Amino acid sequence: MAKIFCVANQKGGVGKTTTTVNLAAGLAKIGQRVLMVDLDPQGNATMGSGVDKRSMALSVYDVLLESASVTEAATYSEKCGYHVLGANRELAGAEVELVDVERRERRLKQALAAVDGEYDFVLIDCPPSLSMLTLNGLCSAHGVIVPMQCEYFALEGLTDLVNTIKQVHANLNKDLQIIGLLRVMYDPRITLQSQVSDQLKAHFGEKVFDTVIPRNVRLAEAPSYGLPGVVFDPAARGSQAFIGFAGEMVERIQKM
Ligand code: ADP
Ligand code: MG
Repeated sequence: MAKIFCVANQKGGVGKTTTTVNLAAGLAKIGQRVLMVDLDPQGNATMGSGVDKRSMALSVYDVLLESASVTEAATYSEKCGYHVLGANRELAGAEVELVDVERRERRLKQALAAVDGEYDFVLIDCPPSLSMLTLNGLCSAHGVIVPMQCEYFALEGLTDLVNTIKQVHANLNKDLQIIGLLRVMYDPRITLQSQVSDQLKAHFGEKVFDTVIPRNVRLAEAPSYGLPGVVFDPAARGSQAFIGFAGEMVERIQKM
């Protein structure tokens, strides 16, 4: 049975997409069967996995509208070693098109049930909002991975997300839990970052992943080559951290 994780944080630019594609590539590297689902109409995770969002015949949009199955709409990225259920601008319309549909927040969950035996991990890249698309992600998932930068307002921003996750847990998906907080773009030389990191550990304890992702320019360069950093430059510090994170995730799911 596949373990399904959402990478979510309602803030933009915090490293969700970078985390999703690099974790997917890291897991693939250690022999896990991975499906990456892009739920952001910007399609950055799609492009960043070597799939051209403009020339996709079918996408996650078609899956949400039940006009295609996951198997039909997903493509295998040879370079990255995982399957991609891509997104593009079309997805922005799904919210409106599903407005009158019953149980619309469960569309993705239903679709993923059909491929449950085919993957070890399904990773869902969420848009920077708590929208119906994100809700579809949260309803499908066993857990949420929250990437965050150790900045002054980081903890404040977490409150909304934690409350949303609690509500989804109570009303829609009793499996849902925060798997962990992942410190990303971390620079230990910045005193504030190590202070916020300490606060995080004091507040969330075990929920803070051991792995820390450093700020690393190779991770930022990789998307322009249509690749995750882990594939583009596996030896880079940031890539090595994500490969380590994949190992930590495999360990965590054994305890779930
Ligand atoms: P989100 O999906 O939350 O909007 P992204 O993953 O797209 O965030 O990251 C925002 C920007 O920060 C991108 O330009 C990305 O390349 C860059 N970035 C993300 N993580 C790192 C990192 N560890 N080191 C350097 N740059 C990073
Ligand atoms: Mg993104």
